Formats: sequence, C-alpha cells, structure tokens
Amino acid sequence: MVSTIELNKRQERILEIVKDNGPITGEQIAERLNLTRATLRPDLAILTMAGYLDARPRVGYFYTGKSGVQLLTENLKKLYVKDYQSIPVVVNENIAVYDAIVTMFLEDVGTLFVVDGQNLLVGVLSRKDLLRASIGKQELTTLPVNIIMTRMPNITMCEKEDLLIDVASKLIDKQIDALPVVKETDKGFEVIGRVTKTNLTKALVALAKNE
Ligand code: ADP
Repeated sequence: MVSTIELNKRQERILEIVKDNGPITGEQIAERLNLTRATLRPDLAILTMAGYLDARPRVGYFYTGKSGVQLLTENLKKLYVKDYQSIPVVVNENIAVYDAIVTMFLEDVGTLFVVDGQNLLVGVLSRKDLLRASIGKQELTTLPVNIIMTRMPNITMCEKEDLLIDVASKLIDKQIDALPVVKETDKGFEVIGRVTKTNLTKALVALAKNE
C-alpha cells in the first residue's frame, strides 16, 4: 500500500532527475547518478509504490506530480472499517449496571453495546455512563442498564464498507470513543463490530509503516 514515506537523499535525487527529464528509463537515471541499474532498482520500486513515480513499459519513469500530502489523502481514502474493526462486546438491556461494570473490566473495553432479546442494538454504555450511575444512590446490582444507557435512535453507527476517515470524523463530531459496526435487517440493527480510537490509531501506524 502507498503512503507518504520519508525519502532518502538518493530517492530525492532520483525524483529531481525524473521531474526534469521524464519520461526517462532506469538505465538513463542510473547513468546520471553513476550507479548501476541494479543498485537503483529498490529506490525506483519504492518511489513507484509510494505513488511519486509512474512507470510505463518501454517509455520509462515519469513524475506523477503528486505531493506527499496528496498521496496520504489518497491512501487514507482506501482504509475501510472492515479491515480495522474489532470484535464488539455486547450485553443484554436487562443486565444490572454492576454486571456491566464487571463485563467492561473482564473484556477490557471502554464501550459496551446494548441489545434486546432479538440481539438488536438498543443502546450504548460508556465508562462515564457507568461511573455516573455508580456515584448515585441507586442499587447497582438491580438497576438495569437500559435506564442509564444512551439509547436508540441517538446512537451513532457505521457499516463495514464505510471509510475509516468518516468514522474518525463522527467520533470527533459527537465527542465519543467508539462506534458500533452494524448490519441493517428488517427488524433493526445487528451489531457486527466495533471501531474505537485505538483502531484508528492502529490504522495511522499501518499507514506510516507503508503496510
Ligand atoms: P466516556 O463517557 O467514557 O468518555 P464516550 O466519550 O464514548 O466515553 O461517551 C460519551 C457519551 O456518549 C456517553 O454518555 C455514551 O453513552 C455516549 N456514546 C458513546 N458512544 C456512542 C455512540 N456510538 N452513539 C451515541 N452515543 C454514544
């Protein structure tokens, strides 16, 4: 996959040569640098893979004219929810707040998705929702989570074919940490995944590492 990688001095030099002289063959670039074609091969492969150069058979290399930022934007728009989502942790709407807190610790997540008897999404529970309930006077072992959760239709969701960058915008706009990945059915929304700020951070690192 393509990304804005840091170029070394020789790669910068190759870019300059192609910018000024392209289309130009690998052989000709090598001559100008007093290097062999074989020595240049990895650099040319990197520059082509990263989208700075394009290669046409029997014509040579030419400069695409795309800046690092343009390439980064293009690559961001190739990252989809389905490639970065995690497994969702789901609880029934009738379980007690106490049990939801235990689940959150055991499953090591910051957001729980709440479903009804038909396994359809009805709400979301965040850490602060549970903390808020805990500092109240209610009995946590009997208080059902559906009293304190954020409920439908006010749930922000996404689908597995959505772009990760659109999910990131939703998280920022709504000031939340996670979105359920849902599949729409006749009856409602089934929860099939979870996208969190951690998934987005992982995507960012993958992009930087050119994975
Ligand atoms: P925390 O409360 O732990 O900081 P969030 O920022 O994710 O976690 O949650 C803030 C509030 O937004 C909570 O009341 C939570 O129920 C709600 N919330 C979290 N995720 C969503 C979502 N996907 N859709 C709608 N509301 C959400």
